[in-house]
Amino acid sequence: MNIKSSLRNSVSLCLCGAFLFLTAVAQIPAPKDVLGFTPGDDRKLASWAQIVDYFKKLDAASDRVKFEEIGKTTMGAPFVYATISSPENLKNLEKYKQINAQLADPRTIKKIRLRNGREMAPDLVAQMLAGQGKTIVLITCGVHSTEVGSTLSSMLIAQRLAGANDAETKKILDNTIILLVPSLNPDGVDIVKNWYDKTLGTKFEGTEPPELYHKYVGHDNNRDWYAFTQVETQLTVDKIHNVWHPQIVHDIHQQGAFGSRLFLPPYMQPVEPNVPKQIVEGYTELGNYMAESMRMIGYQGITTNSTYDAWTPARAYSHYHGGVRILSETASARLATPITVTFDQLRGSEGFDAKKESANFGPVWKGGEWNLRKITDHMTTAAKALLIHAANNREKWLTRFYEIGKEAVRPRKNGELLGFILVKTRQLSFLRGPCKIWLDIALQGERPRRKIGSYNGRHIQQELR
Ligand SMILES: [Zn+2]
Repeated sequence: MNIKSSLRNSVSLCLCGAFLFLTAVAQIPAPKDVLGFTPGDDRKLASWAQIVDYFKKLDAASDRVKFEEIGKTTMGAPFVYATISSPENLKNLEKYKQINAQLADPRTIKKIRLRNGREMAPDLVAQMLAGQGKTIVLITCGVHSTEVGSTLSSMLIAQRLAGANDAETKKILDNTIILLVPSLNPDGVDIVKNWYDKTLGTKFEGTEPPELYHKYVGHDNNRDWYAFTQVETQLTVDKIHNVWHPQIVHDIHQQGAFGSRLFLPPYMQPVEPNVPKQIVEGYTELGNYMAESMRMIGYQGITTNSTYDAWTPARAYSHYHGGVRILSETASARLATPITVTFDQLRGSEGFDAKKESANFGPVWKGGEWNLRKITDHMTTAAKALLIHAANNREKWLTRFYEIGKEAVRPRKNGELLGFILVKTRQLSFLRGPCKIWLDIALQGERPRRKIGSYNGRHIQQELR
């Protein structure tokens, strides 16, 4: 497989705008047909209505894209996502969902009695399922609405997957099921665009809006992945994560303008100790692969193993549900307004120096103009590298996923932690879906002081004593 040439093609396609794309995929609408500009153009942001319209048109034109609304945002906008895969896979989504659900909960995988009378052990059945399943990749954009590049990039990613016919894209479509959320905070798309358009050409151009871009929690919407207080988090968890159990979650962000051009995992130590070791192995392997792939085709200023950690569960739902989180952080411009960054202005962060090449940083970017096109190029190229890895290592991702689940549900040894206390309260709204609750720490082999109750998502089923 030639990653280098493939990624180089993707860069040249991005750099040359949509021209090369369109020669191959005349029937697939380009974002420009709907927006009137190409995502990444200077000083151009799309409204949420335009973005939804683009995905609807893509769905209508392509048998690789299924687009749906799954609820309403805090301010009543449609909350949406696209499922992208080969036409054959899209016809069999239910089957792949079931395979993945079994691998997600190894208790559901039973031994099979074969016709010759022999038995197939659950591990072998799981291996068979991993052979048949697809890597489930969730790509989330725009949780932070002033980081405008990812929502714009979502349309470029979808257009490429819907239209390109090269062998690598076909392999991605055959081997993965991609769940693409154009924005985790659609309300903020319009809040930021309205402010940006209003201030365009004034001295306030490129500044952040003077209001929260999420009505209640602003930037902290990305600290809600364990408390689930906001409707956008609830929809994502209830209708995507817990339905599909993705092995890989690619969460696309932007960072400050003067540090690395791009951060990719692995994260800085320490990792929160309840994160399974296979998750750490998975994001290390995948993040390093993405960084290396991009360096090979000339990207500069990429850092790994610095700046960002994997400590809090508040940002990483997947780290507790069998999937790796690949955070990417591309350097920002001023919303859609280009900036110039001099070498002297560059500064490092924890774990790297932006002016000096090191094992986890480089080659050094010397400074220059930084604009939205460069941002969307970094995002679309990184996403493509991620999808290539997901496709080429499909069975490995699924096997690792099964191993994580197996460890989570295995019988506990005597004295081993079985569960945590949840104090009985009327405020159970933070619990997502059915679960069991304890009133005390329950240790295997030791009688819990109080009985186990069950919670069905609405009521406690059994009075706790
Ligand atoms: Zn962010």
